[in-house]
Amino acid sequence: MELDEFRTSLDAWLDQHAAVLTPDPLATETLDGQMAHLSVVKRHTYEAGWMRWGWPQRVGGLGGSTLLRAYLGEALTSRGLVEPGIYSMTEVLAPTMIDYAQPQLAAAMVPRLLRGDETWCQGFSEPGTGSNLAALSCRATRSGDVWRVTGQKVWTSLAQYADRCVLLTRTGTPESAHRGITALFVDMDSPGIDVRPIETMHGAPEFSEVFFDDVAVPVDRTLGQEGQGWSVAMDLLPFERSTALWHRAAYLHRRLQGLLDTVRPDMLDPAAVGEVTQLLAALRARSRATQHRLAAGEHLGPETSIDKVLVATAEQAVFDLVADGLGPEVTIGDEADSDRWRRAYLYSRAATIYGGTAEIQRNIIARRLLDLGSGH
Ligand SMILES: Cc1cc2nc3c(=O)[nH]c(=O)nc-3n(C[C@H](O)[C@H](O)[C@H](O)COP(=O)(O)OP(=O)(O)OC[C@H]3O[C@@H](n4cnc5c(N)ncnc54)[C@H](O)[C@@H]3O)c2cc1C
Repeated sequence: MELDEFRTSLDAWLDQHAAVLTPDPLATETLDGQMAHLSVVKRHTYEAGWMRWGWPQRVGGLGGSTLLRAYLGEALTSRGLVEPGIYSMTEVLAPTMIDYAQPQLAAAMVPRLLRGDETWCQGFSEPGTGSNLAALSCRATRSGDVWRVTGQKVWTSLAQYADRCVLLTRTGTPESAHRGITALFVDMDSPGIDVRPIETMHGAPEFSEVFFDDVAVPVDRTLGQEGQGWSVAMDLLPFERSTALWHRAAYLHRRLQGLLDTVRPDMLDPAAVGEVTQLLAALRARSRATQHRLAAGEHLGPETSIDKVLVATAEQAVFDLVADGLGPEVTIGDEADSDRWRRAYLYSRAATIYGGTAEIQRNIIARRLLDLGSGH
């Protein structure tokens, strides 16, 4: 299906099915409620075919351009039908499964994620090993047909809901750095896994500590080859910084429009509104180019760090404007709306951390794109 036809038909379908797809504001105040509603939206959009477009047929998709996926997420987030962060985990994890899992495993698992039957998580960061990912120490030791995994992850988004985890483990010596890492696809109900949710400052248990105590993972759950985990990670991270960010840009537009609809115009500095609008336009232009490169089959790499810097800057600018425009309502207001704005404001502070910090993105841009700091 072509993008124009997809867009028109999807918009009409979303209008027709608004009653079932629109979240109940009270029920979706909590992360539990948002996750439950996400499953409903995914199931309906999958069964109607929309969620399957843009994914390969070998994993239950209907084929077509990846732009179709970008538009579906844009339509759902800009209408407020899903929360972009939890919706877009599919964009982060499914492409990696498709590229690195054994074909029959990908074919069995990806449809469950697309249909909303399952949630997956990304087990990369460890205490003391976030930016310096190559130093990770969660160990996997081969024993016949299984890996035995022992160690700890932290900040694992949605781990308490997750059925599976894309997990980075140390299989080489501690000194092997990026060469000794292996990626595994782990069932989260395996004996020996203990998930302990952590509450963020915006008041939701969005991520968790995850402990692994001699957890058995079949060797056929290895993503790629033993020792290839760094490539898996380097291919996954650009996905975290591409279509997922297109969806987030749509969400930010919606929140800015919501602010403009809520506050009296004289409460906002026109120059600040102009600045935020310009940041969002730059983000959208950049992300649009990334979507087209992905659709053309190009391999995404370090250049997606620019998209990440732009989204983090834009997100914080949008919510700085919210804080300026709504003032005390955001900081101390008791109303449900104030609380919603406050939580979104607080969450925006995480934008320069998740998916790689702003400093690390700038290091990547300097070293890998501009060839700076290489000692000349
Ligand atoms: C909302 C949220 C969701 C997340 N979800 C997940 C998830 O699902 N899975 C997962 O694996 N992780 C997740 N993370 C973790 C995230 O990837 C890490 O927090 C991030 O990579 C930073 O690592 P760190 O927390 O260990 O900080 P550190 O790496 O310790 O960094 C601390 C500070 O030092 C700076 N710094 C570090 N090294 C350098 C350097 N070389 N040059 C300049 N500055 C440097 C950083 O920029 C930062 O300001 C999530 C984080 C957040 C906030």
